[in-house]
Amino acid sequence: MDLQKNYDIAIVGYGPTGVTLANLLIKMGLEVLVIEREPAILQLPRAIRFDAECMRVFQTIGITEKLLEEIAPGPGMKFEDAEGNLLITWDRPTTKGIHQWSSAYRIHQPDLEAVLRAKIHDHNLLDLKLRHEVFKIDEHADACTIHYENLANGTLHQAQAKFVVGCDGARSLVRRLIGTTFEDLDLHSKWLVVDFIAQNNTNDLGDYSIQFCDPKRPMSYIKGTGMRRRWEIMVMPEDDVQQLATPESIWKLLEKYIRPEDAIIERSAVYTFHALIAKKWCKNRLIIAGDAAHQTPPFMGQGMAAGIRDAANLAWKLNESIQHNNLGLIESYHSERLSHVTEFVNGAVNFGKIIQNYCEDAEFQQQVNQPRHHSLDKDFI
Ligand SMILES: Cc1cc2nc3c(=O)[nH]c(=O)nc-3n(C[C@H](O)[C@H](O)[C@H](O)COP(=O)(O)OP(=O)(O)OC[C@H]3O[C@@H](n4cnc5c(N)ncnc54)[C@H](O)[C@@H]3O)c2cc1C
Repeated sequence: MDLQKNYDIAIVGYGPTGVTLANLLIKMGLEVLVIEREPAILQLPRAIRFDAECMRVFQTIGITEKLLEEIAPGPGMKFEDAEGNLLITWDRPTTKGIHQWSSAYRIHQPDLEAVLRAKIHDHNLLDLKLRHEVFKIDEHADACTIHYENLANGTLHQAQAKFVVGCDGARSLVRRLIGTTFEDLDLHSKWLVVDFIAQNNTNDLGDYSIQFCDPKRPMSYIKGTGMRRRWEIMVMPEDDVQQLATPESIWKLLEKYIRPEDAIIERSAVYTFHALIAKKWCKNRLIIAGDAAHQTPPFMGQGMAAGIRDAANLAWKLNESIQHNNLGLIESYHSERLSHVTEFVNGAVNFGKIIQNYCEDAEFQQQVNQPRHHSLDKDFI
C-alpha cells in the first residue's frame, strides 16, 4: 500500500466530463487526482455534435483556437418519412448566436477529448492515474478515502480527497455508492452505429443530418468532420444483431446511399439507448456528473454536452465549498442541472418517437403527421 496522498478533488473517470471538470478545477488552483480504468481515449463511435454553450466552457478552458482547426458548424436536422417527404426541419443557425458561437458544431469525440487532455497534461496540480480502477470509497466527515488498483500490476493504492466526483459513465460505481435509483423517461431501443470514412463525395448527403423516419427501418445520417460519415440503423425485433452488424449486411442496408467503392467502414458498435436520470446526484462528499447522472438517446446530440454543462456548474461550487467549507452550495448543483437535463432528455425521447414512429399519443401524432413541412421553433441552444 502507498502512503495516502491528500487532494482537493478526486475524479473517477477521464471521459469528456472528467477531463472538462479536471481542466476547470486546475484553472482554479485546486489539486486534482484523476483515476481512469482505460489506458487511452476510447475510440467508440460516440459524440459527433456539440453546441454553443459547450464552446463557452471550452473558451474558459482555453482550447477554442485549437478546436476551430478541427470542428465545423452544422446547420441542423431534417426528418423525412418513408417516401422521402420532408416532415420537419430543425434549423441550427451557423452564424454566431447569443453565446458568440454557432449553435451546433460537428466533432469527432476522441479528437475533442485529446485536445482537452493535452491542455492539462504535465500540469503539476494534476495527478493522473491511467489504467487504474477505483473499487471502493470510504466516506468520512471531512474527506473520502479512495481505494484503487493499478491494473497493470495489481497493486492496491489509497488516496484522500475532500470530494469525489464520479464521472464514471453509465455504469457508475460512485452512483451506486450514493445509493440512488433512476427516473425512467421511457425510451430503450437498440441501434447499430457505423462510422465511415468517405473516399470521395458521392455519398455526401449534405450538411444537414437526416432522420429517415421509415417504420420498416428507421435510420439516421450525420455528416462528421472531414470525410467522416455516420449512419445509425435501428435494430428491429426480428433482426439477428450479430448478423446485422457484419460488413456485408451494413453495405446491403445502406446500398441506396453509400457503397464499398466510395467509403471504408472505420468502426461500428451496437448500443441500447436509454433515457434515464438519477434521482440523487450528491450525497455528502460524493457527487456524480455526466453519463453517471443521466443518459439520453443521442437523437439531439446532447449526452456529452450535458456532462460538460454539469462540469461547468459544479467546478466553481467545488472551489467555493473548499475555500469556505460550505457544503450547501453543492446541493444547488443537482437542482439547477436537473430541470435542464430533463428538458433535453425529454426532447431526445420525443425526437426518438418521431424517428422510431411509435408514439401513441394522439395529439403528438397529429402534430407530426399533419404538416408536411414545419420547423421546430423551440430554441435549444
Ligand atoms: C452513438 C452515440 C452518439 C452520441 N452522439 C452524441 C453527440 O453527438 N453529442 C453529444 O453531446 N453526446 C453524444 N453521445 C453521448 C456521449 O458520447 C456521452 O454522453 C459521453 O461520452 C459521456 O461522457 P462521460 O465522461 O460522462 O462518460 P464516459 O465517456 O462513459 O466516460 C466514463 C469513464 O469512466 C471510466 N470509469 C468507469 N468506472 C471507473 C472506475 N471504477 N475506475 C476508473 N475509471 C472508471 C471509464 O473507463 C470511462 O473512460 C453519443 C453517444 C452515443 C453512444
